[in-house]
Amino acid sequence: MKIITTIKEMQAIIAAQKSQEKSIGFVPTMGFLHEGHLTLLNRARQENDLVVLSIFVNPLQFGPKEDYAEYPRDFERDRALAEGEKVDFLFYPAVEEMYPHELSVKVTVQDRTDVLCGKSRPGHFDGVATVITKFFNIISPTRAYFGKKDAQQVAVIEGLISDFNMPVDLVAVDIVRENDGLAKSSRNVNLLPQERQVAPVLYQSLQAAEAALHEGEQNPIKLIEMIREMINKETNGEIDYVQIYSYPQLKPLEKLEGTIIIALAVKFTKVRLIDNTITNID
Ligand code: AMP
Repeated sequence: MKIITTIKEMQAIIAAQKSQEKSIGFVPTMGFLHEGHLTLLNRARQENDLVVLSIFVNPLQFGPKEDYAEYPRDFERDRALAEGEKVDFLFYPAVEEMYPHELSVKVTVQDRTDVLCGKSRPGHFDGVATVITKFFNIISPTRAYFGKKDAQQVAVIEGLISDFNMPVDLVAVDIVRENDGLAKSSRNVNLLPQERQVAPVLYQSLQAAEAALHEGEQNPIKLIEMIREMINKETNGEIDYVQIYSYPQLKPLEKLEGTIIIALAVKFTKVRLIDNTITNID
């Protein structure tokens, strides 16, 4: 595995590989790798000649009061895990390499940002879409791998690829969970021990709502209330949102049918966690 820190070198390598018609699987991450990331890498390994992993905590997608400084980082551990997944190139640029000066152009996401994390984190998806556009231009991936844990991000990037005619196939990968159901996240290490114990209720509440939905509960307000009650009973976390929308459009539903997402975000002492389930209603 080769570690690359400059855009120039990364682009030169990609140009050489592309001239040999190699397919490139790209997995963008913020590091502090866990099994969710490794699943994306594994899938990329199976489907492409080359695998490029990026590790970059992108300041552009963090709000001023968010956890950019506290975001966990451990490059040596990540490097070993990436080697284990047979990554070919680990792209690890410094912030100054990615943003040497204030951007003169920024990507603005116009649709689907008035809900869920887009609403709670103004500017977040502009930061994501901007960095992903840069990465796609640097790496020219054949396929790019994203986790459904960030389902809104998947929908936004699908829109970016489609609207800007980017020659990239997006592959969306299922959520990887701990044995107790908690969605794996780099941020889980910032839960207090007592919070970690009760955090599985986030997924349990989503499962309960999904079961009720399939048993015929048609009222989204009741389903949302059910989730809120379960979380409030088990945790001291502050619910940021619990919402139900069509997916991937992320529009409110008059009738619960088609593909829908039930999504939530909960703020704990030092960390805000998200989770979701996507299900089909006939
Ligand atoms: P992050 O490093 O948190 O930006 O995540 C990098 C990529 O890994 C994103 O596409 C995430 O959606 C994906 N990812 C993070 N956690 C999980 C998980 N538990 N299961 C599946 N994919 C995940």
